[in-house]
Amino acid sequence: MGLNGTDHYAVLGNPVAHSRSPFIHTLFAQQTGQSLVYSRVLCPLDGFVQAVRDFAAQGGKGCNVTVPFKFEAPALVAHCTPRAQLAGAANVLKLDDHGWWADNSDGVGLVRDIEQGAGRPLRGLRVLLVGAGGAGAGVLGPLLGARPAQVVVANRSVDKARRLVQRHAAWALEHGAELSATSLDAPGLDFDVVLNASSSSLQGAPSPVGAAVIQPGTLALDLMYGPSAQPFLAWARSHGAEPRDGLGMLVEQAAEAFHFWRGVRPQTTPVLAALRVEIAAGR
Ligand code: NDP
Repeated sequence: MGLNGTDHYAVLGNPVAHSRSPFIHTLFAQQTGQSLVYSRVLCPLDGFVQAVRDFAAQGGKGCNVTVPFKFEAPALVAHCTPRAQLAGAANVLKLDDHGWWADNSDGVGLVRDIEQGAGRPLRGLRVLLVGAGGAGAGVLGPLLGARPAQVVVANRSVDKARRLVQRHAAWALEHGAELSATSLDAPGLDFDVVLNASSSSLQGAPSPVGAAVIQPGTLALDLMYGPSAQPFLAWARSHGAEPRDGLGMLVEQAAEAFHFWRGVRPQTTPVLAALRVEIAAGR
């Protein structure tokens, strides 16, 4: 605990300057009356472990972990939640009397945004997940947990998609979902939900999959948000899909992290609205 009973949290990554997490968690803290400060920590690419140690030594209570350290985080800690263990990746760390804990809130955030934000219950649907990096790994377990009929994981490096699918095979079976891995060239046709969890939009690249994956009314969600997501969303709209950006997921995964740290669940709707105003104003 810091001065005046204020706890310190941060997002650790490289880069982190663009992160909206300080804005979101500051609003959550105001809304729930929690005394905390939240900052950004830029970690050297080979210095994540030391950065976590330094943060703890300075009184840090918990952090978000972002690109490219999500796969490093679970190995660091004494305890992993089952969903972080299944993903093999963590985006939330917490320090308490038992040591460090790792969790992954990306998947529950995405599922909440799809089911509650976009109003699409996933049960029985056919889902295409594009990308098998930190985000893809984090969301696959909770996606399968929502009992879709099928999830196809398509990735530029097919081997990575195959490994992710293998890791989740038993979980998929348990939840009655068909799960397979494929390349970006032939991911299949006419999905109900298409999720771009690749970093194509971040790089200004076009949609990583062809329009055959879309049918009228497909929910096409890019985990990216802001101006970089617009080309994918425009492409999806032009092919008859309902486009959605990753801001809802961002706020939902943050709310889950906040609950993990503080034991209180903030309301997400007003924070998402405030964030949309910030971004529209170019701030
Ligand atoms: P990673 O760097 O871990 O993984 C990147 C993924 O994108 C890999 O699967 C990679 O394929 C693929 N990829 C990279 N470039 C291209 C391209 N030009 N065409 C097709 N595929 C490509 O990143 P993350 O998984 O952590 O993040 C992915 C995206 O999700 C980012 O845009 C990030 O901002 C967003 N995100 C949003 C969140 C939210 O809350 N809204 C939360 C987490 C992430 P390969 O394996 O072949 O290299």
